[in-house]
Amino acid sequence: MEGKNSKKKVYTAPKGMHDILPDEQVWWDRFYNKAKDVSDFYGFKKIDTPLLEDADIFIRGTGLGTDIVEKEMYTLKTKGGDFLALRPEGTPSVIRSYIENGMFNWPQPVKLFYYGPMFRYDKPQAGRYRQLFQFGLEMIGEENAAADAEIIQAVWLILNELGIKNIHIELNSIGCPDCRPAYKKFLKTFYRTKASKLCSDCKRRLKINPLRILDCKNESCIALRENLPPLFDKLCEECRGHFEHLLEYLDEMQIPYNLNPNLVRGLDYYTKTVFEVWSNDDAGSLALGGGGRYDGLVGILGGPKKPAVGFAFGVDRIVYQLKLRNKKTETYHKNKVYLVQLGESAKKQIFGLLEEFRKNNISVESSLGRDSLRSQLKNADHSRVKYCLILGQREVIDGTVILRDMESGLQETIPIDKIILELKERLKKEN
Ligand code: AMP
Repeated sequence: MEGKNSKKKVYTAPKGMHDILPDEQVWWDRFYNKAKDVSDFYGFKKIDTPLLEDADIFIRGTGLGTDIVEKEMYTLKTKGGDFLALRPEGTPSVIRSYIENGMFNWPQPVKLFYYGPMFRYDKPQAGRYRQLFQFGLEMIGEENAAADAEIIQAVWLILNELGIKNIHIELNSIGCPDCRPAYKKFLKTFYRTKASKLCSDCKRRLKINPLRILDCKNESCIALRENLPPLFDKLCEECRGHFEHLLEYLDEMQIPYNLNPNLVRGLDYYTKTVFEVWSNDDAGSLALGGGGRYDGLVGILGGPKKPAVGFAFGVDRIVYQLKLRNKKTETYHKNKVYLVQLGESAKKQIFGLLEEFRKNNISVESSLGRDSLRSQLKNADHSRVKYCLILGQREVIDGTVILRDMESGLQETIPIDKIILELKERLKKEN
């Protein structure tokens, strides 16, 4: 029973998850619209997959020994006994769909993009959330290094056109099932006598996946790998040729990259190319996205052998970059006007006007439930529109409307039958 002193519980979003409020949507839209435009241009088609999947596709695909699967996956058992996971990443879901829908019978490569939330039970901190948004590109059915280059070019273009220009690519090749086992064996031997100096995570990695020791951020693990020969010196001929081709394409496109022998990416399914995009602006910043080639994944998930390559943007981090760079540009909603009405007859006339605005592609906002001029103008201000239309009793009688420039506060009276034309002219200039 609720007593006099019982406190009301204040509900908050789950830890590491957050709302995207109306004012912030402009940044998310800006990213999505640009990423979609460029993806369309490159021939990628949109795919949506369920948020929940059979947990097995991540256990087998992403890999049992990876942090994402081992520590961070949200799983549940359904009443029917299915073991499902909230997707921690998009690629295994897309590949599951590729196989389930027989896309291997379509003309290859199949080029897909996806956008949506992923879930990882990670320790929340700046730039690291439990619900994170990714926009991913996947190209399935093409082994040529030109496919890797095309994805990198599309990623580069999206970020550049968003004004995120001071960036570079971290790049490596982690070989294939032909050449990687020998390097893993070499690593095991290299670290055997040094194991006591490795961090506890790496001690475990030494047994399961010694490659992961290479990207450990622990100081003693970094010091230990100083004299280690890089993996790209040990690649088989096929992987070396593939990597060299990719580097030639990137040089041709003048996309700056940094060869990073310690970049292995956290996931098991990668083969050959792995890469990440980093901002040069803030040292110690976080990767804006990552990807690579995964020639074995379609086979691992039960499909025919098909090579593939993909990339995922971390959209939360890109939105953060957009906000940093564009503090002032979003002052006004460019294609929107606010309608203010005073009195019953004005209100009725506004209902008729709305359809005219819609037909002419001008968005409108209003608060028809409010009567005072002051409170409506306050709302208009909050909506950050450039123009406001004020319709009072007098204007209704005269067949006019007042056009108010919200920035300067200047007002003009315009005949109502000319207002759409007038606004279109002005909004065109604003754009
Ligand atoms: P991954 O394939 O795991 O490297 O993820 C691709 C990109 O998603 C990363 O480069 C980050 O930009 C973003 N990302 C990954 N994990 C998180 C997280 N927990 N919170 C926010 N963004 C993330």
